[in-house]
Amino acid sequence: MSLKADARAKFLAAMFKAYYETNFERNYYLNDIKKREFGFLYWNNNKFLRHLGFWDVESLKEHIKNDVPQHIYSSAARYEVPDAQQMKLKSYQDCDLIFDLDVDHIPTPCKIDHDQWVCKQCGKTGRGSAPKVCPVESCNSISFRELAWECQKCMETAKAEITTIVEDFLSPDFGLDVQNDLFIVFSGRRGYHIHIEKEAVRSLDSNARREIVDYLTGKGLVPSFHGLNPNAQKKPATNDGGWRGRIAKLVVKLLKESSIEELQKILPRRGDILQIKSDLVFQLESDGPPWTYPNIGEKTWQKLLQVAIAKYAGKIDEPVTIDIHRLIRLPGSLHGKTGFLVKKLEFHDLELFDPFSQAQVFSGEKEVFVKTTPKFQMQNEVFGPFKDERVELPLSAAVYLLSKNLATL
Ligand SMILES: [Zn+2]
Ligand SMILES: [Zn+2]
Repeated sequence: MSLKADARAKFLAAMFKAYYETNFERNYYLNDIKKREFGFLYWNNNKFLRHLGFWDVESLKEHIKNDVPQHIYSSAARYEVPDAQQMKLKSYQDCDLIFDLDVDHIPTPCKIDHDQWVCKQCGKTGRGSAPKVCPVESCNSISFRELAWECQKCMETAKAEITTIVEDFLSPDFGLDVQNDLFIVFSGRRGYHIHIEKEAVRSLDSNARREIVDYLTGKGLVPSFHGLNPNAQKKPATNDGGWRGRIAKLVVKLLKESSIEELQKILPRRGDILQIKSDLVFQLESDGPPWTYPNIGEKTWQKLLQVAIAKYAGKIDEPVTIDIHRLIRLPGSLHGKTGFLVKKLEFHDLELFDPFSQAQVFSGEKEVFVKTTPKFQMQNEVFGPFKDERVELPLSAAVYLLSKNLATL
């Protein structure tokens, strides 16, 4: 590690330590700490230390103060022996139900402007999200370094997607009370988690969790089972519950929100798209819609529905929900790549939540050398763009740029 990088890590570790000593407990949240496995990542090595357990928040805090980890994780599962070194010896009890939504997995249009990737093998660079395979033919590497930016628009997209899952699925279809049955955690970077700790869901095994994921994402949906077939006596209507109603609602939404060019791609052989669009919306929004239209058959409806599902159904990172042994970021800890607080929120606070002010824990100023940064807003002040210059910044902004390796001391 270079001297500069070492000084940067030391400074950040000292800042993190100061936070954990003074303000950690007021932000910390974990139900049943004795039964949770903990994992830590440190500043100067890539070794993931896991299979640790703590009796209470004091002993956890003591450990954090001594070692000052860069990232802190705890298990969604509860175990009888959380610190056993092998999974099979931990004596699994049950697991909170977690949904993880990260902008990293959503193709927002602005990523092309603010995200970059570098191929670890050949050094090829590009804008937007990293490809699956390096486009350089002789390389074919699948390993990239990604430079992702915490863009306000992307963060708003994440909030909207979380709101869809809660308001369109968990509340109406699963009967969960958004006030009492669930809470939200800001991940400290570009995503959010939904946590559900009800006893009824904790006992669900991985297969049941996979079923829930498939339900939210519309994976494997057979529209004809929900009345979208020529022989059905009653076709899906927007006021039906569950996926039956959602089929009608999503197709209406797609028709309303798509441009003529977009609809032309789905219905390539139709010249009268504008007319079809308004007729279909009118028809589908009526009570007991017939789902008939000259020359629009079952296949075309299904195509419209497929596009609508891909666009509007729940978007979550599947493994996080399905893997009952997974470790997730501890609410109250700091994200080591941003310095932002991993913050527990009530669902009704999500809409107005601004991570650039409400997930900031540092006060004071700090002068740093900024290598490069686009314009960004923090604690209601706008900074940058900066390029190779020394600037005095609020400590939160300095920690942020240092954490992202966009600045040095
Ligand atoms: Zn490459
Ligand atoms: Zn963006």
